[in-house]
Amino acid sequence: MKVRPEFSIMTTRAQPIDETLWQEFVASVRPRLAAGTKFTERESLASKTTMRVGGPARVYAEPASSEELRQLIVEAKRLALPVLLLGRGSNLVIPDSGVDGLVINFGHANWQKFEPQADGRAWAGAGLRLKNLCGLAIKAGLKGFEFLEGIPGNVGGALRMNAGAMGGWMFDVVDEVHLMTMDGDVRALKKSEMHVAYRHCEELHHAIALGAFLKPAATVESSEIRQQIDTYQKKRVESQPREPSAGCIFKNPTGTSAGRVIDEAGLKGERVGDAEVSTVHANFIVNRGHATSADIIGLVRKIRAQVKSAKGIDLEPEVLLYGQDWRDVL
Ligand SMILES: Cc1cc2nc3c(=O)[nH]c(=O)nc-3n(C[C@H](O)[C@H](O)[C@H](O)COP(=O)(O)OP(=O)(O)OC[C@H]3O[C@@H](n4cnc5c(N)ncnc54)[C@H](O)[C@@H]3O)c2cc1C
Repeated sequence: MKVRPEFSIMTTRAQPIDETLWQEFVASVRPRLAAGTKFTERESLASKTTMRVGGPARVYAEPASSEELRQLIVEAKRLALPVLLLGRGSNLVIPDSGVDGLVINFGHANWQKFEPQADGRAWAGAGLRLKNLCGLAIKAGLKGFEFLEGIPGNVGGALRMNAGAMGGWMFDVVDEVHLMTMDGDVRALKKSEMHVAYRHCEELHHAIALGAFLKPAATVESSEIRQQIDTYQKKRVESQPREPSAGCIFKNPTGTSAGRVIDEAGLKGERVGDAEVSTVHANFIVNRGHATSADIIGLVRKIRAQVKSAKGIDLEPEVLLYGQDWRDVL
């Protein structure tokens, strides 16, 4: 099975990280950070994800600016500490043991801007929720972003995943992405310079998306956009479960949908602990209350084995196992 490691940038280490390195990191970085930057140790991550499972981050930061972000990642790189980005946590399963890394989130308001430009484009910060992007686009009369409305991520996560719905992909509306390399350099890349595919953006495996200039399809009356969004919302409500989940667990295999083959393998309602194959949409695993990440991984294993045996198809996870590689647990 070909599954990419989840670490997007990240100086991965084969050995466990020596605790003294974390202490050195914290002692060196903390005094240099501005008051607006959140910086904590052993921050619980479960509540920062839509699946609501997982342990803490060894170090967690919400930088207030690019300069603050640079300080964090340059120091982490110097000490060879892993860095992970966390968006809205809507495409992740966080291991019960948490992550031995520096987890960065764009929760600060400075990353959540939506700014229509004189040239017709609109700047969207990496921390802007897709839902808010759509709401602000309606107000500005900018059409073309409606398909993003029901995706519960933010702009950074949607760029990294090339999120898509209702026949559209994130990169359909991207003109230029601004990113920061692990050396702390800021670069602007045109869409044509980037390598994107189904749920994949190569450049963001090794860099941090800061935001993007997006290209609306047209300027129209707000009511026209609202109408389209309402249609999409209705479709989602009818076809997706309400319980906590991480969206579609598996990528669609060539020529069919993962939901269909899981359903045909008789797996709707199958459970491991409190993790359940949704009875509404078979490609969703839902948390029925107190699921652990071990429950979810166990259920993923079970589904893959049964679909392989019933259909001869190898399902590949779409959801990321945060800080780990699915190959190590499946
Ligand atoms: C109910 C539900 C419905 C969903 N429907 C859809 C759908 O229709 N279509 C779809 O494509 N997805 C869907 N998803 C999955 C998910 O919402 C998308 O993949 C979304 O784009 C993830 O964004 P996020 O901000 O939550 O990213 P996260 O889940 O937080 O992170 C995803 C990846 O992006 C990386 N990342 C996050 N921010 C950055 C950044 N700034 N720079 C670099 N890397 C970054 C993370 O490190 C991680 O590797 C759904 C999920 C749920 C729960």
